[in-house]
Amino acid sequence: MERRVQIVGNWKMNGTVREARELVHALVAGSAPILPTVDLVVCPPFTSLAAAREALDEGGGKIILGAQDLHPEPKGAFTGGISAPMLVDLGVAVVLVGHSERRTHFGEGGPLLLRKLQAALDAGLSPILCIGESLEQREQGMMGPTLDGQLAETLLHLPPSALERVTLAYEPVWAIGTGRNATPEQAEGAHAHIRHWIDGHIGKSAGTAMRILYGGSVNGANARGLMGRAGVDGVLVGGASLAASEFLKIAEAAAL
Ligand code: PEP
Repeated sequence: MERRVQIVGNWKMNGTVREARELVHALVAGSAPILPTVDLVVCPPFTSLAAAREALDEGGGKIILGAQDLHPEPKGAFTGGISAPMLVDLGVAVVLVGHSERRTHFGEGGPLLLRKLQAALDAGLSPILCIGESLEQREQGMMGPTLDGQLAETLLHLPPSALERVTLAYEPVWAIGTGRNATPEQAEGAHAHIRHWIDGHIGKSAGTAMRILYGGSVNGANARGLMGRAGVDGVLVGGASLAASEFLKIAEAAAL
């Protein structure tokens, strides 16, 4: 089965509602040639999801709407939380789970991330599980065991049929927001390691089917080199997704 390329923009905690509308309009205007071959996803902050949904629908609705996080419970006394059914109600289809900024700044880890994955899947969302090693772990030769641990504490506890809707994003923590991206060789190596783990622990067909994105300081100049590598099925883009022209350049690199 061919894995369709996916390009995801994580806007993080940026932008007003008006800015979100403008960015979506610019993406809609420039993305028509790309969309037949590439899944384009934008993940605005919660406050801009409804406006982004409207702007996407005005543009034909082919760009996919994602969210950056979710609460693991469907509803109740969880002040400030946003649940999976609430995201579905807003027309969200994709949700990031376990982004390194959530792991670092909000103390999120395995058991909670597993609950978030289950909640997303139960509601019909397609989660993107982010994994990656720190610089210290890489320098100590611990990239492999770190990734293995992050995969085992989540994927091993999900029903195999649900995994069809899960995408992985390999995001080395040292490359996120630092301007220091992994080389194409490093990305290919890490992706091969992850796929080998899935083949061995979940099954060959899951390993063949599951998309693995690369994330970490991707821009219009380095995207082609990264996505030209075997097993790199797209990219998760932070900073460079806030400028429509740069994000479209990345998406164009995927469509080449
Ligand atoms: C991200 O937010 O997932 C990310 C990879 O950020 P940046 O592209 O800014 O490094």
